[in-house]
This record gives sequence, C-alpha cells and structure tokens, in this order.
Amino acid sequence: MFHEACRIAVEHGFYHAAGIRRVNKTTGEAVFVAGAGPAEEIAARMPITLSGSDEKNHGPTGLALREGRQVIVNQLSTDPGTRAFLDVAGEYGIQSVAAFPLVINNDIAGIMTFYSRDPGAFDEDEVALLEELAADTSLGLNYIAKDQQLAYLSFHDALTDLPNRALALDRINQATSGYGYRTIRITGIVVLSIENYRKITNAYGTATADKVLREVATFLIQILRDGDTVARIDAHDFGIVLTGVFSVNDLNMVVQKLLDSLPGAIMYRGEELVINYRAGISIHPRDGKDGGELLRRAGLALTGARKIEQPFRYYTKDLEDQNSREYALEKDLRDAVNNNELELYYQPIITVRDRELVGFEALSRWQNSRLGWVPPAEFIPIAENTGLIESICYWSVEKAVRQLQHWEKDGIKDIYVAINISPYQLRSKGIANRILEIIHKAGADRFREQIVLEITESMLMEHSDSVIAELNILQDKGLKLFVDDFGTGYSSLSYLRRFPVDTVKIDSEFINGLPHDHEAEALVKGIIGMAHGIGLEVVAEGVETEEQYAVLCELGCDLAQGYLFSRAVPPEEVALSY
Ligand code: C2E
Ligand code: CA
Ligand code: CA
Repeated sequence: MFHEACRIAVEHGFYHAAGIRRVNKTTGEAVFVAGAGPAEEIAARMPITLSGSDEKNHGPTGLALREGRQVIVNQLSTDPGTRAFLDVAGEYGIQSVAAFPLVINNDIAGIMTFYSRDPGAFDEDEVALLEELAADTSLGLNYIAKDQQLAYLSFHDALTDLPNRALALDRINQATSGYGYRTIRITGIVVLSIENYRKITNAYGTATADKVLREVATFLIQILRDGDTVARIDAHDFGIVLTGVFSVNDLNMVVQKLLDSLPGAIMYRGEELVINYRAGISIHPRDGKDGGELLRRAGLALTGARKIEQPFRYYTKDLEDQNSREYALEKDLRDAVNNNELELYYQPIITVRDRELVGFEALSRWQNSRLGWVPPAEFIPIAENTGLIESICYWSVEKAVRQLQHWEKDGIKDIYVAINISPYQLRSKGIANRILEIIHKAGADRFREQIVLEITESMLMEHSDSVIAELNILQDKGLKLFVDDFGTGYSSLSYLRRFPVDTVKIDSEFINGLPHDHEAEALVKGIIGMAHGIGLEVVAEGVETEEQYAVLCELGCDLAQGYLFSRAVPPEEVALSY
C-alpha cells in the first residue's frame, strides 16, 4: 500500500521520487519503509532521527520530523533552512521538496517526502492534494501500529508488561535448543508463585493486588541477568528462565539468592503488606526436552513444594507419578460423583452432660472399584482442585435433607446434620441460594433449621464481604453455622462475633492432648470459657477416650464427637443412645 501511494504520486505528480519513513519508537530513527524513484537511496544518504542534531538531520525531511510540521521548499538552492540536503539533492537534480509528518494520535509516526526536479512544483493545490495522500498514509500506518500492538499484546501481559506464558515457552525453547556452549550448560525454569495473592485480593482489593504483582515484576526484572527471562504465566505465577548456568549447584545458588532477595513486603497506605512466595524448579536437559514439558514440570514441583510446605522444590520423577495417579483418581472421582457412587456417612454429635444425641456430622465416603476405600484426606483435595467439591457439597445437602425426612418418618426428630463446606466453594457467589434451592426442591424447607454448615476457621479468616453476605443469607433462612477446626487458625474468638456463627468445634489436635498435655487443656478451657462468654456453644472433636471425656465434663464443654461414641457410619447403622 505504501509503495503504491509513492508510485502513484511519482507517476501522476511527475515527481522524481517519493518516500515514506517510519519512526522507530525506541531508537527515534526514521526508517525507510517504502518509496518510488531513488527515494531509498536518498534516505540512505540522509539518515535522520527524531532528536538528531547532526548536519544530516537538517534537510527538509529532518526538519519536518523535528518540528512536527509540513515543510515545503520550492527552491532548495535559496532556502537556508534545508541547506544540509543541497549536495545530495544536486546529485539527483532535485530542486523542490515537500515533507509531511504522518501523525497517529498526535504522535509523529513517520514522514512522507516528495522530491521534484522542477522548482516551484508544490503550489497550494498540489500541497492540498499531497496532504490528503499523507493523511491516508497515516491511517494506513495506524492500522499497522494497531496490528503490531495486538501482536505485542498477544505475547505480553498487559498488567506487568512482562512476556506472557506463550512467549515464556518460546524463550525456554530458544534457550534449550541449539548446540555449542549451550549443550554444556543447563537452564533453570522457575515457577514463582505469590502464595497469599488471593488473601491480598480479598483483604485489599484487586487494584492493590495488581500493584503487588507489578512491584514484584519490576523487582524480578532488576535482579535478573540480561539473558534471563521473567514472564507472567498465570494470575499469580511468574515464570523465570535462568540461562547458561554451569551446574545444578550453581543454579541452586542462583535460586536461593533470588528467593532470599525477594521483597517480603511492600508498603501500602502506611501499612506493611506481607508477600509470601513459593517456587518450583525444573532443569534442562535433566527434566525435560521442550518448553511445555519443562514449564509444566516446574509447576508440578511448585505443587510438590506446597504439599510439603517448603519454600521451593525441584522437580523429581515421583512428582510426575503422583500427578498421574491423581489424574487417574480425578477421572474416577468425576465419574463417581456423576454416577452417584459416593456415600454419606454420619457421625453422632452428643451432649457432654447427658450423652444425648443432638445431631450428626455428614462425612463423604468413596469406594473405588480399583483402589477400595479412598480416604477423604486424599479425594477431598482433588475435589477441591478440580471444582468437583461443589457438586459433592450440593449432593451432600440433598442426600442429608432426604435422610432427615427419612428419619422423621422413623420417629427420629429434632436432630441436625452438619455438612462440610470447602473453603474453595465459598468463593463462588450464589452458593447460599443454590443450597436453599436444593432444600426447597426436596420439599424440605421446614428442615432448614436442622441443616448446619461447617466452615473452617481459616476460611473465615480469609473472609471477604461476599462470603459474609452468603453466610447471612443462609442464617436468615434458619440454617446454622459451625466453625470447624477451631484453634488451628490462630483467630481470636471476639473476631468470630462478626460472623453469623452459632458454634465452634475445637480441633481434635487439642482434644488429643487431654488429659496429660496441660497446655492443650489450658487452651481447651480458655476456648470454652470465652466461647460461652460470647454466647457460642462448643463441640469437642475427636474424643477417643473416657479420660478425655471426663476432662470435657469438668470443663463444661457442651457437645462432643469422636470414636469414643461412634465412628461415622452409614445411615441405617446409626444408634440413638450413647
Ligand atoms: P473434619 O471436617 O475435621 O471431619 C472430622 C474428621 O475426623 C473425619 O475424618 C472423622 O472421621 C474424623 N474423626 C471423627 N472422630 C474421630 C476420632 O475420635 N479420632 C480420630 N482420629 N478421627 C476422628 P474424615 O471423614 O476422614 O474426613 C476428613 C476431612 O475431610 C474432614 O475433616 C473434612 O474436612 C473433609 N471431608 C469429609 N467429607 C467431606 C465432605 O463431604 N465435604 C467436604 N467439603 N469435606 C469433607
Ligand atoms: Ca467438619
Ligand atoms: Ca474438624
């Protein structure tokens, strides 16, 4: 198109040459892009830049570029302002010149210049025509700029301006391909995660979380060497490619240094905002061939580091095996959920004083055809990671209300069923209404007060306003809320007053210590005392021995649950007295 514009101008305007130069944003150079006649040669003889001050910049094109205005010279030999061009012009027999800036969004993107061998070639009519041609050309440049911007954006993250995952992959492939010195060096691929990103988002909002990401990005760019790459590969994950490392030992040192020097906090409105990191690392060539494999394995190493609660971990083969097992399990679990193969077992909750049954905690059980019983500790995390937990929750609610209806027919009345809600699903909006709808559809609205939802303490600590809103809806409709695993999240009881909570369940870890561990006993005593002080009931979880039970009686604990009374059993096996 640009060639075409120049060709038309030359042919129809009887000019000797016409050329277009485009400004390179980073260097400021005006680079020749298209032309007709000897325009390219002229451009080569008269290199110009946006801020250039040397002699060559003082021709008509240079002047138009520097001053951002059209420059019309109808007789070069008598124009002192463009004398610099005179020699070159002479060689081509050029006598008059017109140069027009090409403007995009008030920015000079290039220059279009017309050269004539006749003096006085650019009269008013001619200039008006050429102006139009230049405007059209600007428009064309604008399209190209947009195109390039799109291309840029498709390989960069708009927030941090870092390369994105696709470009990171490309960089890894580049770093790990080829021969020569690279073959004797190794490449480290690090996936660095901001572990408390979600907490930061919930507590301070997205804008602040974005700021954290940008600050960490800037920091990473500063400390990495030139050949290295840092990319944003996921919402809160950075991918770092460390090239040309001599040995695993060296890499280890680099990684260690990197992690040690990361900013542990940033200042936000005068407050210190703590940032937690974790990393997974894979090494080329040891751990994989191509970028995709290496990045994925670094991600597996990150997941592995999370599991063992370490700040970082290297990829090892067993992580892949474990991942395949989980993957297979995930598929089986999905089928099990869809085919209604999970079961709901019930563990009684009783009053400490009279050992009277008040309700049950519903716990999911899964018998897999290949593996037998899979413990919840194994399948619940998988369900959480895959989102299946939501289906399991709704399935539990439905199963539980039907069970309540069933029990009522058998004369077992006024007992409740407590259902575990995973932290992962409370984040999704609409969960309250969904639960209410399930109860309603089962024709069980009058059982609403017999449904309890168990929410972990750490979930409440990570609360956001939307979580509280969901909980309020449920409480309004009569459902009760228990705080599960209390004591493990280091929250204070007074903090709980902000939430529509009825009861706390002291984590079995503390009950376990009774009666010999005095610290545990003091803690249990403290929790009971304070909970009563603010009108909450207390359940002791994991009660296994009569001695433990005796201590709970003495401390005035309200309710208890544990193997001493019963394990979780199928509904037809529940007993009524304990
Ligand atoms: P949790 O909510 O703390 O559930 C109590 C766990 O303690 C259950 O383990 C229960 O069987 C066990 N337990 C009860 N009494 C005793 C005792 O006296 N001694 C000992 N050592 N353990 C006792 P379970 O069923 O293996 O479940 C483990 C966790 O999995 C649960 O911890 C809960 O967080 C989760 N979970 C189980 N079913 C579901 C479910 O349907 N949905 C969700 N979201 N989570 C579930
Ligand atoms: Ca529970
Ligand atoms: Ca618990």
